[in-house]
Amino acid sequence: AMDPTLWQYQFRIIMLGDSTVGKSSLLKRYTEDEFLESINQTVGVDFYVHFLEVEPGTRIKLQFWDTAGQERFRSVTRSYYRNSVGGLLVFDLASRASFQHINEWYTEVVEKVQPHAVLFVLVGNKSDLESEEQRHVSREEAEELAARIGAPYVEASAKTGQGVAEAFELLTRCIYQAM
Ligand code: GDP
Repeated sequence: AMDPTLWQYQFRIIMLGDSTVGKSSLLKRYTEDEFLESINQTVGVDFYVHFLEVEPGTRIKLQFWDTAGQERFRSVTRSYYRNSVGGLLVFDLASRASFQHINEWYTEVVEKVQPHAVLFVLVGNKSDLESEEQRHVSREEAEELAARIGAPYVEASAKTGQGVAEAFELLTRCIYQAM
């Protein structure tokens, strides 16, 4: 087994999307395999680390930044985006508004990270709320938006864990392959 303290690359990844879509919960699920029904609102900058071996002998240190409850557009500062190479654009499958705001998040980040580029994965979270009344965004329209912004689309649930590792690992592999 590899020395767990060794890593070859470090990627800084940011979580983007409206308040309450589940950004902190997705991070908690991925890095700690835990879910809380009632999670404390992030104050200050929350920071998570996870290691992923993308191929034998190549270990990536993933550094995640959580938005510190500043999710209103334009209030997230440039320093939050600095040096980030990837972003998860997260919406809540039960919230039409959070889906409609993805475009603004995307534009905001693309403007602020220049001159370097960021790769994205679009995540429809809370897929456990599958019943007719609770799903407000169809897979088809989410895939359409994803295609427009050039990002893969993954449906996930921080609650059950479904799709969570897939979303983070897909993004990591995209960044690694683009290096
Ligand atoms: P953030 O503001 O985007 O970081 O959202 P949070 O992670 O704080 O989550 C907001 C609320 O949604 C919390 O009550 C979570 O327990 C809940 N939540 C987050 N992810 C899921 C999910 O996948 N399924 C369900 N049913 N609830 C979730």
